[in-house]
Amino acid sequence: MQQPDLRVLIPRQDIAAKVQEMGETLSRDYRGKEVLLVVVLRGAALFAADLCRCIEADVVIDFIAVSSYGSSTSSSGVVRFLKDLDESVESRHVLIVEDIVDTGLTLAYLMENLKSRHPQSLRTCTLLDKPSRRRVDLRPDYVGFTIDDLFVVGYGLDWDQRYRHLPDICIHSEK
Ligand code: 5GP
Repeated sequence: MQQPDLRVLIPRQDIAAKVQEMGETLSRDYRGKEVLLVVVLRGAALFAADLCRCIEADVVIDFIAVSSYGSSTSSSGVVRFLKDLDESVESRHVLIVEDIVDTGLTLAYLMENLKSRHPQSLRTCTLLDKPSRRRVDLRPDYVGFTIDDLFVVGYGLDWDQRYRHLPDICIHSEK
């Protein structure tokens, strides 16, 4: 297979600074409360691992997995549960942690699903946002970087399960 060109879009130092800043905001907003981080596998795992260490509040972490694009780089619009939470969300402050919001279909689906389980509060946090691609009316509560319509990899984000381990967020040329 031919190697696509990878060009750094967001270097690791900028990611680290942004994650720290988001952690400070979350620490303010959840001060004195317990927050349940619902980390969306697999992409958000690296972001969540760094973010949770910057939050000064009572943090509980759980994971959820829904179907993603597979090896394609455009949305199928189909969202499917692959792994549910172990924790109950009822009466808790829940924060969904995503790697990237693109069409918004995944997050909209997750929000509807978690809302029906009666959390005390439900907010959303994403490292990357591509608002120009949105197909539903949805604005995440906490956004790290707003980016153009580019396909990115690294820092948890994959292309056909590859490149998640890259420390920088890079543009994948095969779009
Ligand atoms: P949405 O449902 O908002 O269209 O898509 C959300 C999911 O699509 C993300 O969690 C991620 O798995 C995948 N995705 C969307 N855009 C990108 C991208 O630029 N790069 C990668 N690697 N995945 C993306």
